[in-house]
Amino acid sequence: MASSVSQLSESTRRTATMSESRAPGLRAQSVYRALRRAIIEQALKPGMKLPEDSIGEQLGVSRTLVREAFGRLAIEGLVELKPNKGASVAYPTLEEARDVFDVRRGLERLVAETLAGRLTNAQAAELEAHVLLEEKAHGQDGPESIRLSGEFHIKLAEMTGNALLLRYVQESSSRCSLILAIYGRPHSSECAVSEHRQLIEALRQGDAARATDLMDHHLRSVVTRALLSPRVERDIRDVLAPYALSEGLTPS
Ligand SMILES: [Zn+2]
Repeated sequence: MASSVSQLSESTRRTATMSESRAPGLRAQSVYRALRRAIIEQALKPGMKLPEDSIGEQLGVSRTLVREAFGRLAIEGLVELKPNKGASVAYPTLEEARDVFDVRRGLERLVAETLAGRLTNAQAAELEAHVLLEEKAHGQDGPESIRLSGEFHIKLAEMTGNALLLRYVQESSSRCSLILAIYGRPHSSECAVSEHRQLIEALRQGDAARATDLMDHHLRSVVTRALLSPRVERDIRDVLAPYALSEGLTPS
């Protein structure tokens, strides 16, 4: 029980402690954000049980606030709530995963179309600076790199100034992170940084067709890497593990 909670990162715990002095509304927001980050950074694994009491203790908040956060995370598809069974980190099926990626691609094509030719110099500079951070983190620190990859896409959505589009992009990208945690291969959650650069360039040039194509291609390649690539060699061991165990067979 305690193991899931002990995996909340140090920074996540700090966020929660700092939030104690704030108003209840802000504290609820902090709990939600701490849990959301722990799920997206894959510290809390898909399918993992989320006991209200120990999470509340660990974050120093009431169970009511924890439940409230679960409710929001459930709407976003990150947490599953089952009557009498409590909450757990969601575990989408492969079929659901493909649907999520399709929706995300559609949304982000719209982001690219909206931004083409409309990026200010300050926005372009902000994106360039972000890509530099991504380059530094690439391949070194899994969670950091995954977070930065996601943030690039959120930044773009923010820059459209369309609040609804931003909300949908945020939600679909959170779901994608969870899906990649389940079905992705190591590092498949990271974006190709060179593709982010190309995208910024197309947006600056105001080439909407190229920008949407690049975005489409970019997100498709994440799916291809993570979900559609031949994973048989790796998967067969997972598939056979319980059968081997029940027969008393051990891997050589
Ligand atoms: Zn990307």
